Amino acid sequence: MKFVYDFSEGNKDLKDLLGGKGANLAEMTNLGLPVPPGFTITTEACQRFLRQGTHADGLTAEIDEHLAALESAMGRELGDPADPLLVSVRSGAKFSMPGMMETVLNVGLNDASVDGLSRQAGGNDRFAWDSYRRLIQMFGKTVCEVPGHEFEDALHEAKTAKGVTDDVDLDAGDLRALVTAYKKVFVKHTGHDFPQDPREQLDQAVEAVFRSWNADRAILYRRQERIPADLGTAVNVVAMVFGNLGADSGTGVAFTRDPATGEQGVYGDYLSNAQGEDVVAGIRNTLSLADLERLDKRSYDELMQIMATLEGHYRDLCDIEFTIERGKLWMLQTRVGKRTAAAAFTIAAQLVDEGVIDLDEALTRVTGGQLAQLMFPRFDLSGDPESLTRGIGASPGAAFGEVVFTSRRAVEVAAEGRPVILVRRETNPDDLPGMIAANGILTSRGGKTSHAAVVARGMGKTCVCGADRMEVSAASFAIGSHIVREGDTISVDGTTGRVYLGEVPVRPSEVVQYFEGDLDPARANDPLVAAVHRILTHADATRRLRVRTNADTGADAARARRFGAQGIGLCRTEHMFLGDRRELVERLILARSDAERAEALSALQPLQRADFLEIFREMNGLPVTVRLIDPPLHEFLPSLEELAVKVAVQQEHGEPDEKDEQLLAAVRRMHEQNPMLGLRGVRLGLVIPGLFAMQVRAIAEAAVALAAEGGNPRPEIMVPLVGAVQELETVRAEAERIIAEVVGSANVRILIGTMIEVPRAALTAGQIAEAAEFFSFGTNDLTQMGWGFSRDDVEGAFFWRYLELGIFGISPFESIDADGVGRLVRIATDEGRAARPDLKLGVCGEHGGDPDSVHFFHRVGLDYVSCSPFRVPIARLEAGRAAVTAEGSDHR
Ligand code: PEP
Ligand code: MG
Repeated sequence: MKFVYDFSEGNKDLKDLLGGKGANLAEMTNLGLPVPPGFTITTEACQRFLRQGTHADGLTAEIDEHLAALESAMGRELGDPADPLLVSVRSGAKFSMPGMMETVLNVGLNDASVDGLSRQAGGNDRFAWDSYRRLIQMFGKTVCEVPGHEFEDALHEAKTAKGVTDDVDLDAGDLRALVTAYKKVFVKHTGHDFPQDPREQLDQAVEAVFRSWNADRAILYRRQERIPADLGTAVNVVAMVFGNLGADSGTGVAFTRDPATGEQGVYGDYLSNAQGEDVVAGIRNTLSLADLERLDKRSYDELMQIMATLEGHYRDLCDIEFTIERGKLWMLQTRVGKRTAAAAFTIAAQLVDEGVIDLDEALTRVTGGQLAQLMFPRFDLSGDPESLTRGIGASPGAAFGEVVFTSRRAVEVAAEGRPVILVRRETNPDDLPGMIAANGILTSRGGKTSHAAVVARGMGKTCVCGADRMEVSAASFAIGSHIVREGDTISVDGTTGRVYLGEVPVRPSEVVQYFEGDLDPARANDPLVAAVHRILTHADATRRLRVRTNADTGADAARARRFGAQGIGLCRTEHMFLGDRRELVERLILARSDAERAEALSALQPLQRADFLEIFREMNGLPVTVRLIDPPLHEFLPSLEELAVKVAVQQEHGEPDEKDEQLLAAVRRMHEQNPMLGLRGVRLGLVIPGLFAMQVRAIAEAAVALAAEGGNPRPEIMVPLVGAVQELETVRAEAERIIAEVVGSANVRILIGTMIEVPRAALTAGQIAEAAEFFSFGTNDLTQMGWGFSRDDVEGAFFWRYLELGIFGISPFESIDADGVGRLVRIATDEGRAARPDLKLGVCGEHGGDPDSVHFFHRVGLDYVSCSPFRVPIARLEAGRAAVTAEGSDHR
């Protein structure tokens, strides 16, 4: 196996092997651009080193061979005291990980060759000693873990002693003295002298770059960016060119367009008489490219030409690093540049206008994640707010407000017109009014599929969950010794999970204003809004997957429609049993006879009918999947603990309350060890006579009412938690009878289908399809039951360890586990369709709005995904992207 490639041997498509930097240096070399000669040690060599702790067999010999070729190309030898070759040793992984790994410059310098370097530079002693001190500093820090501040302190001392503030004001003598000081720092920390053998320097630097793949910050960065842990980094060994040879030298970074806004026109920073790291480190104020034009017109013109060549070649925004050595321009790096979400959309649309790419390709240049970023209000962090803690960013956005600890208080404060952050250990359906009133929600327990997270996402409300360093009590929460009390102001960032003390200013999203139709007319021609519109329109024209929404109020349905939803894929009916209807639900649960139960149900039925009519109206002409009630009924009763205490106190005071006692008995009777696996979903419908019937009747009556108004209702009744066809058949038989009775001769058709969210249902989908006109995959429960992970507990409890061990790269509740849970989806899809070719298939779990999962559902061949209203545009975009990506559909 070959471990080392000369730049002339590679190309831009070899990123897996050569890393991004190496592949692009090779590409530029092949384009004839001025790249200093060099070679790349492959990621494969790094992987072997990290596995076995030593170099792969043959690597040393290959480096020798390529070094010799480099020496002959440059006409200089590494370590030659008279005329030394110096090299840089740079990391470069497949995916850019800026600043996460290591670089060592000026490798090859030692006590002897420093004079030779000075001669090479025309007797420039200052330059030679400056290069040497930089090598000791970088080598010390990177290879030998000498604390960086010790070098910085010594440099600072040298400047103070001389009474100057700028590095450039130190002369050769000062720098020579600094080298002596640096060597002392080096010996103090390593116990040995700075290595004088250039080849030893090179080997150690290469190893240090390999090792830096597993530095803590690199691991953290990879986890956050979902970069696989086993890729390893390549190492680029490049002949040094010098930007610190005097006023006619310098170094810079540049972009072919503005990476922040996407605005056309080159953009960059230049620093004269400096080496690469100085620009990024912000040691001195940089100059603009316009200044470079004044300083060195020839290099500037050449740079402009190269930038145009690169943009034309890569057909995208490129960023570059360059150095000018005594008026000669060298390209040190290029890549398709990182950019903000706004710039990604703007640039993609510009490139279409310029005829560089077509709209299909534009779809591949943006992501749903970027669109999501554009849809949330953002904090303006320029005031450097005090960070309090961090939890799981469960529902993106930025919100500030007064801290309150109860739903009731949230409603009160909001009614007084003040913004509120509802802080709870965890939320439950009772907190809904407070969650609606609050600007943001913060919990100390629960993960991304906890109640708080799911409900908040549904409402598009900012939510941070599982901030487990936070101790929540009745009227305050503590983080260590820091106490935050009711009425204090905090700010929560649902994207990053960060919580700040005080009010951080928030900027609204113009993209959402555009979807909502209330964009300030002055911004109507905003290039970003126009770009989003154009690219999404193309996604809609391209995608095969339809996009529905999860919505259970008329207001949510209306908003989702404005966001482009093509129906409702999941209308959860449980919230319709809360608030002032709670009393009716209690009556239903406590009923001692069929007659009492029937009475409670018939009181609920007109209320339900009104709920459904409102939603059907908003979705007139589009399908609305109404799910029959799913959670265990005891969720609608007070908590066992609270009620037990209340009753005990009443009894102690000799004032027993019969209703409370009955309630307590009911709560005890209904208490379950594993409520998620207990009396819920279809089981409830089979056990509580008349419950499902009431809902079915309300749905059918609402549909008939809308049809009578001249509307076009398209209801679909969905049965939750089915595991066996017999369950569905039983519910279906009763539902069909009621529908026939209510609909009569009206022009209303109501489909009946089921959730597929119990593994057994997926495995017996062929049977179940006999009784279902549609399947909707409930991937939340399917993941819960497929993995045996309690969906409300595990993310906060131990997923960090699973992520650390690489058991999965992302929570399976967030992105579909294609191999396991996804396999259940495939099996059910295949067997369901085999049994009933016109079976409609969709997904309504949280995964329906996750970009990677949308691609998976496209490949599996579902008909639609359904997600919360705010994710609808993201799913539209990702469904379009899925349709144009090479993998395409491997089904149908
Ligand atoms: C699911 O389980 O994926 C689902 C959509 O239902 P719920 O989240 O309401 O259990
Ligand atoms: Mg479910």
